[in-house]
Amino acid sequence: MRFSPLVLALLLGLPAAARAHSGSRGPGGEGGGADRIHKVEKLAEGAWVITGQGGNMALFVTERSAVLVDDQFERIAPALLEAIRGVTDRPLRYVINTHHHADHTGGNATLEKHVHAIVAHANTRRRLLTQQAKLDPQRRGGLPTITFGEEDGMERARMTLHLEGTEVQLHHYASGHTDGDVMVGLPAQKVLHLGDLFFHGRTPVIDVESGGSIGGMIANVEKVLSQVPDDVRLVAGHGPVGTRKDLARFRDFLRACEAHVKANPGQRGAELARTFDRAAFPDYTDYAPFLTWEGFFETAAGRPRK
Ligand SMILES: [Zn+2]
Repeated sequence: MRFSPLVLALLLGLPAAARAHSGSRGPGGEGGGADRIHKVEKLAEGAWVITGQGGNMALFVTERSAVLVDDQFERIAPALLEAIRGVTDRPLRYVINTHHHADHTGGNATLEKHVHAIVAHANTRRRLLTQQAKLDPQRRGGLPTITFGEEDGMERARMTLHLEGTEVQLHHYASGHTDGDVMVGLPAQKVLHLGDLFFHGRTPVIDVESGGSIGGMIANVEKVLSQVPDDVRLVAGHGPVGTRKDLARFRDFLRACEAHVKANPGQRGAELARTFDRAAFPDYTDYAPFLTWEGFFETAAGRPRK
């Protein structure tokens, strides 16, 4: 599909920006020398966030296993394995994909040789399969081996990995950023990775061509807010780790954008971007040059971004 190569190309061009956004989070960066690609930050007992280039990742470590949520790009997968080794010597048994975009699943082809299974929503596997059909056969690989949920974007689905007393929960509510979004969390440790249902402090990508919509994103975020405790740590797909309050702020931002689109039917992204009251959200900037206000409002209005 044509959206994901764009995502890939733009994110590949932005390693410095990705690092700047994730850097200097204080102590706890076992994998994080100044010249390393990946930074590691401990969130709770057995839970870390790993940032590098592309979507943020989470690493969960139980008594005998390690579980990785998302894996960025194939070319930096070896460095990622090294960063994980800096945190734990437990074997990496599972990779979970929050959705199919290349900046979250690019490492699958490398990591599938190391893990028992790659876990994802059924729609994520289907979309990866479609993407890979366009590649040379030798470049294919890394498809999810365990899927859950049906190929129906509105269906709710849930799966739990029971690993030596630790529960890793996977939730899919309905289409939001894509039709295969999965949130992955450790309820006991109050940590939840939201994938690209949460862009912290920046305009979100909405993959309209893969079933995403601003209304769906809002519904997903509302559902999360109704369920998580006040002291939860929320891993955003892009941007710094946030709190419940930060996610409520993102919900307010999305609502304001949706209301703006509805109040101006038929307007193009450029015009919507020009007239939106950005002063009300100084903490939200466009994800430039990756996603401009104009491009964002095109997708908020339900039109694919070029
Ligand atoms: Zn994405």
